[in-house]
Amino acid sequence: MSIADPDCVFCKIVSGDIPADVLGRNEHAISFKDLNPQAPFHALVVPVDHYANAAASAAADPAILGHAVALADEVAKAAGNDDYRLVINTGAGVGQTVLHTHLHVLGGASGMTESL
Ligand code: 5GP
Ligand code: ZN
Repeated sequence: MSIADPDCVFCKIVSGDIPADVLGRNEHAISFKDLNPQAPFHALVVPVDHYANAAASAAADPAILGHAVALADEVAKAAGNDDYRLVINTGAGVGQTVLHTHLHVLGGASGMTESL
């Protein structure tokens, strides 16, 4: 059983209750295209278990972030992005809007956006 919050949009994507453009998934995490892309390639990687931010996920089990980075590398390279950025926002003050740990995977010529 995974840890879920019934009010969380990313938990609803994990469970399939709301649709997403899925790029890859495994037992630990799911990756899908960001609804509002900030780079030519912009995916999100969302660990299956609901924690509010990366530090909370790491405190629960450091392997959560390791699995997420591995899936990010897989989906970036599958889309032809050998080079990419990973961004993790923590807190509303730097723009975190969804309080479920997620990695932004940014690739392509405009991958250096400062908007994330
Ligand atoms: P944050 O600002 O919290 O780091 O990033 C949240 C990201 O999730 C944003 O880039 C936003 O576009 C994306 N997002 C929010 N809701 C949805 C959704 O329902 N579907 C998808 N695919 N992306 C979403
Ligand atoms: Zn959640």
